[in-house]
Amino acid sequence: MLGHQKVLKTLRAAIKNNNVSHAYIFEGANGIGKRETALAFSSVLMCEAEDGPCGKCKACLLFQQGSHPDFQEIYAEDDKSISVENIRNLLKGLVIRPLYSEYKIFLINNADKMTVQAQNALLKSLEEPPPYVVFILAVQSSAAMTPTIRSRCRRIFFNKLTYEEIMGILKEKYGNSKPEWDFIVPYSDGVIGTAIGLLDSPHYLEIRDEVLDKVVQLLNSQDLDLFSLYGLFEKNDDKIDFILRVMLLFFRDMLVYRQTGDFRILINSDKKDMIIKNTGIKVSGIMKCISAVWSAKKSLEVNANFQLAIEVMLMKIQQNSSKQSVVS
Ligand SMILES: [Zn+2]
Repeated sequence: MLGHQKVLKTLRAAIKNNNVSHAYIFEGANGIGKRETALAFSSVLMCEAEDGPCGKCKACLLFQQGSHPDFQEIYAEDDKSISVENIRNLLKGLVIRPLYSEYKIFLINNADKMTVQAQNALLKSLEEPPPYVVFILAVQSSAAMTPTIRSRCRRIFFNKLTYEEIMGILKEKYGNSKPEWDFIVPYSDGVIGTAIGLLDSPHYLEIRDEVLDKVVQLLNSQDLDLFSLYGLFEKNDDKIDFILRVMLLFFRDMLVYRQTGDFRILINSDKKDMIIKNTGIKVSGIMKCISAVWSAKKSLEVNANFQLAIEVMLMKIQQNSSKQSVVS
């Protein structure tokens, strides 16, 4: 199971009705499952059986081992663009008939990273493809594709997965759910790659713990040395997007809990004790903390000075953390 069952159903129907397009654009956020869906689609196209993949035929075995000669894929390496040479290399075997399957499949991951020349090199093959060829262009947004390429492809949109779909995939992959999943699933915002990325690198969750501890310290101490806090941000400056999002979601939860008293709707539900303990902070103060994090995020996006942006944010949070008495 990998989510996107509706997309797969459409693709399967196309195979059944002999209506497979020569070129597809798979469009959706990074990590949403476009490549996995392209592989699943390819495995059906390749299989010798009627309602594949059977997992047993020669085509299936070769495909599972990643060595099917009729399937080729490329990526944009290290975020570089895909050049005209990359495309020419990929297309070298285009005119050779498929060896083990009815189809020959070319998957271009990060196809929106193709240069215009690369797109033009591809265009000729898209316009007059050999009958057995299927191109799959996986993109975040097809806006980067030339209109002529777009007009030659059938576009398939990948929506975000639901909470239940993400949960289901994680259970299948990792077994029983753990408390931190209550954070990871909503944090992933429908993008399965984000959830898997967090689970596969526990370091992120450690950073989250550390950041939230520091934020709580900051909220509870008017004379905490901000410079000592800054070290944590400096050490993890390559993960600053993650850190700021963690902070935003934490303040969001404080606001939600403050207004509703319902901890079941918290994103950081594994940290509910922490949130409940800090519930005395005024709503207006929490709002200002949210806007402080938001401004830091915006400043860093336009390459403002890192240290300055973070310290200003920490200072504003400290200033707005004054508590009002809570009626018990
Ligand atoms: Zn098979």
